[in-house]
Amino acid sequence: MLRLHPYEYHRPDTVAEAIALLSEHAGDAMPIAGGTDLVPNMKHKLFTPGHLVSLRGIEEMRGISENDDGFAIGAAASLDDVAKNPLVLEILPSLARACSLVSGPQLRRMGTIGGNVCLDTRCTYYNQTLFWRKALGYCLKKDGTACHVVKGGTRCVAAHSADAATALIPLEAELRIVGPDGERTSPIGGFFTSDGVWNRRMEPGEILVSIRVLRPGPRTRHSYQKLRARDSIDFPMLNLAIRVDFETDGVVADLRAAVSGMGSYPRKLGKLDAEAVGKPLSEEVVEQVAEQAFRQCHPLANIPVDLEWRRAMVPVLVRRALAEIGA
Ligand SMILES: Cc1cc2nc3c(=O)[nH]c(=O)nc-3n(C[C@H](O)[C@H](O)[C@H](O)COP(=O)(O)OP(=O)(O)OC[C@H]3O[C@@H](n4cnc5c(N)ncnc54)[C@H](O)[C@@H]3O)c2cc1C
Ligand code: SF4
Repeated sequence: MLRLHPYEYHRPDTVAEAIALLSEHAGDAMPIAGGTDLVPNMKHKLFTPGHLVSLRGIEEMRGISENDDGFAIGAAASLDDVAKNPLVLEILPSLARACSLVSGPQLRRMGTIGGNVCLDTRCTYYNQTLFWRKALGYCLKKDGTACHVVKGGTRCVAAHSADAATALIPLEAELRIVGPDGERTSPIGGFFTSDGVWNRRMEPGEILVSIRVLRPGPRTRHSYQKLRARDSIDFPMLNLAIRVDFETDGVVADLRAAVSGMGSYPRKLGKLDAEAVGKPLSEEVVEQVAEQAFRQCHPLANIPVDLEWRRAMVPVLVRRALAEIGA
């Protein structure tokens, strides 16, 4: 049986109280939302904080509200609440879909969208018990010095594996982050780094409080696609979010895409717009966009799934997304 270490559980009512607790126990405290990722990781001794600061009781971090220019989604809103929210379903269907495809029903009710954005990276050689990792000699993400994915590598390339976070990138979401030095906002496109050890531009004492998404224009369409082994429970082996803005006559005005599940952060794909802007979404254009996406994607052996197959599925997901958008 995998046991948890002893820790103190704090239940603040406000963001200010949560920040104060994280500061008071700096270096030995972590925020916890649904705990669906953090608790298994604690059982594997990947994190052993002496203090957990719960975000679930903080009212201002819950709920989804509409304002003049878009939506504010509380970071402690559950994935299930986001996936089933009528406004999100109608106006941000790719985000609703991404949230609805995370894991299974129980974890979507506990897991939050904030926890999804702040999800730790994953790797075959990391998400294992202490006994397993010790037998291997650990790795440089935790307790060791070598990487087992990139031999001789000096940088962790564990996989970013979050669904909602990837869907938020073409939506150009903005993150509201609060810490001991006050409040700041970060575009989600600039939030992640390529360092698989800690792939967020966020200090451990900071909290993601809410996510702002602007209301898309009337001729904007989105799609979210996920590759996974089974239709439930599984993390993405590859995921893709695409947004297409159309002119009035069905000609593409802009096309943006993000992929993840390959390296340590969700990545914007460049040059796809060059293949499509100024043209209708014809079969030929779709093929050119799919081919351009394929050229830019190179999965790593950080999860136990065939690399070539994951890469070959990139254009398949692009075709599926654009078929949905063009339908
Ligand atoms: C069997 C299984 C299958 C899964 N499948 C998927 C999947 O298919 N797709 C997917 O995306 N995820 C999957 N997950 C991971 C997880 O359930 C989700 O990503 C979920 O959204 C995490 O949210 P949480 O609230 O439970 O986060 P927690 O576990 O509470 O936290 C995760 C991390 O984020 C930090 N954190 C949480 N909230 C905040 C905040 N507001 N500000 C700052 N830091 C914060 C925590 O300190 C921790 O480091 C799976 C997990 C399991 C156990
Ligand atoms: S990518 Fe390398 S360093 Fe990172 S978790 Fe995997 S084995 Fe460890």
